[in-house]
Amino acid sequence: MIQAFLQDKKAGRAHSAAAIQDFVTGVVEERFTRAQIAAWLALVCVQGMTDDETVVLTQAMTTSGSTLSWPGIRGPFVDKHSTGGVGDKISLVLAPVWAALGHKVPMISGRGLGITGGTLDKLEAIEGFRTDLEEPELRTVLADAGCFISGQTGSLCPADRILYGLRDETATVASVPLITASILSKKLAEGLDRLVLDVKVGSGAFMKTPEDARALADSLVRVGNGAGVVTSAHLTDMSQPLGVAVGNALEVEESIACLRGEGPSSVIDLVCVLSGDEDGARRVLADGSALNAFARMVQAQGGDLSRPLRGSGCATEVVTAPDSGEVLGCDASGVGQAAFVLGAGRTRAADPVRHGVGVEVHVRRGDSVEAGQPVFTIHHEGQGLDAALAALTGALEIR
Ligand code: URA
Repeated sequence: MIQAFLQDKKAGRAHSAAAIQDFVTGVVEERFTRAQIAAWLALVCVQGMTDDETVVLTQAMTTSGSTLSWPGIRGPFVDKHSTGGVGDKISLVLAPVWAALGHKVPMISGRGLGITGGTLDKLEAIEGFRTDLEEPELRTVLADAGCFISGQTGSLCPADRILYGLRDETATVASVPLITASILSKKLAEGLDRLVLDVKVGSGAFMKTPEDARALADSLVRVGNGAGVVTSAHLTDMSQPLGVAVGNALEVEESIACLRGEGPSSVIDLVCVLSGDEDGARRVLADGSALNAFARMVQAQGGDLSRPLRGSGCATEVVTAPDSGEVLGCDASGVGQAAFVLGAGRTRAADPVRHGVGVEVHVRRGDSVEAGQPVFTIHHEGQGLDAALAALTGALEIR
């Protein structure tokens, strides 16, 4: 049976829905060897999958474990997923904005890997904030605060955990249908009515070129809608960091500033666009109701905003512009690398992060600077300072 399944993909034939469903069930039931699963992943990388196959794969992965549902709570249930970037703290602002607009946001989120920060790591800079809520707690927080942001429970999408692990080991991550099914299966398990995708493009993003980002965005939209969730996607710039703050506690501070209506316009503007209701989003940011929803969510998840953020009190080092001129670029990957070597990120999912370290980016592309003007502030605990300085020097282009 598995042999015929592999032969079909090798010959470029589309799988039937029943065959895909049986494969995913077999992966979770450990009916196949790791070699057989890895062979199929490699064949998909080469041969691809049709949208119909990808819809079935997504749905089979979603239902490979338990799924969340919200009987008794009034929707609509909405969420967004970002493909990840440097300084991307949009979830921390958008979830409470939507909650303040009367939506419910059951946001299951992830940790950072490499230079890409993770929403859970950021929120854990708040003393006491719990990201390991069990299903009954998720329901309580969603009903009370209108949103939660928590980690994947053990029973959600086991098929994705197995397949993603093997993809990572076998260099088969970079396949549009596999990425599509992986991202959407986890989001569909949240019991959503609507999903907004923020597909980042540029040096600090998973997708480096507009063509690759567009192909992924189009696939996510077709397959998400095909699987029954109203899905839209935006391609957004990740050639320079988003906002000023890069680093866990720094990004929480900037998110709270945005919720007070005071943060960088690049962050606030993107939140408003992704919300799908720009006027409404600006209203709930201005009248304090989004900040109130954030405070309720933090409190309901055990966090204490009256205490200093974890890791605060880092030493700082200001980097100044070497020349006067126009900022031609402030490369997101270089800034992300600087935050990473300071300890804001991790290479393995189980590694700890330093909450307080990171970089404030004071310039954006197109700004005029004078020699000696501060361009970055590094927040550090001693580790990685020289490497961070080197990464930031290489990231900035002034002419
Ligand atoms: N993020 C995911 O969750 N899955 C992928 O395959 C790639 C990025």
